[in-house]
Amino acid sequence: MSEILLRLSKQWIAGQTADDAIRMAKLANARNIRGIINKLGEHIELEKEVQATVKEYLNILRRIERDKIQSCISVKLTQLGLSINDSFCYANVEHIVQEAEALGNFVWIDMESSQYTQTTIDLYFSLLNKHKNVGVAIQAYLRRSEDDIRNLILKNGKIRLCKGAYRESAKIAFKTKQEISSNFAKLLKLLFMEGKEFAIATHDNDLINEALELNRIYPKDFEFQMLMGIRDDLNRS
Ligand SMILES: Cc1cc2nc3c(=O)[nH]c(=O)nc-3n(C[C@H](O)[C@H](O)[C@H](O)COP(=O)(O)OP(=O)(O)OC[C@H]3O[C@@H](n4cnc5c(N)ncnc54)[C@H](O)[C@@H]3O)c2cc1C
Repeated sequence: MSEILLRLSKQWIAGQTADDAIRMAKLANARNIRGIINKLGEHIELEKEVQATVKEYLNILRRIERDKIQSCISVKLTQLGLSINDSFCYANVEHIVQEAEALGNFVWIDMESSQYTQTTIDLYFSLLNKHKNVGVAIQAYLRRSEDDIRNLILKNGKIRLCKGAYRESAKIAFKTKQEISSNFAKLLKLLFMEGKEFAIATHDNDLINEALELNRIYPKDFEFQMLMGIRDDLNRS
């Protein structure tokens, strides 16, 4: 069984409000698709701004509960203080994860540029020790990602596989579309063979078909995650 989640960001995308994100999630739900709400922007350097962002995520979680919306949230650690101080960031993300846990919701942690990869994974494992309602994104363009996925699978981590969105050096990352897709396909196979809980975040037709084919051989309870409006042609049922 696979499910599709749509990522809805509206500043929450460009200048719009949390209300818009909630409205878009409702529209997605009406099409039997769950939402992932995230706030755009990264690298918040001021504690006050980070605290305001935490508050916004807490409010969104409560709105999701109040309006009975099918949606989780996705956060970036540099929105929550990672570029200020690791323990401040941990406390902030844990606060959000705890609130989500109390409301029966789930929090995805986006993966940002490679300077944050190890800290994000370390912080994710610390959270996972205490909370089960949290997952982390892994980027198929990074050469280290196979090891990270094996480690995450061993520790029952919840994984979102994506291609990766930052400019990285050839030392640490696959660079061509072909290399990235081929590593994505390899990691997909690993997830279908050995993974437990995972999501596949791509609009790439070949990789979507590859996942559907792997699911026929190794049936898994996974989900597709996409940006709203990009692959609306894909049929829900
Ligand atoms: C739900 C979700 C979560 C993500 N989380 C992360 C994360 O945590 N860290 C990270 O580094 N990256 C993340 N990404 C971004 C991801 O890494 C890729 O950069 C992005 O999804 C484009 O790659 P693709 O797999 O869709 O393949 P591509 O080869 O880039 O795209 C395939 C086709 O999809 C269409 N398409 C793709 N993206 C767009 C777009 N933005 N607008 C219009 N058409 C488009 C195009 O037609 C394109 O030909 C996420 C993506 C999604 C959908």
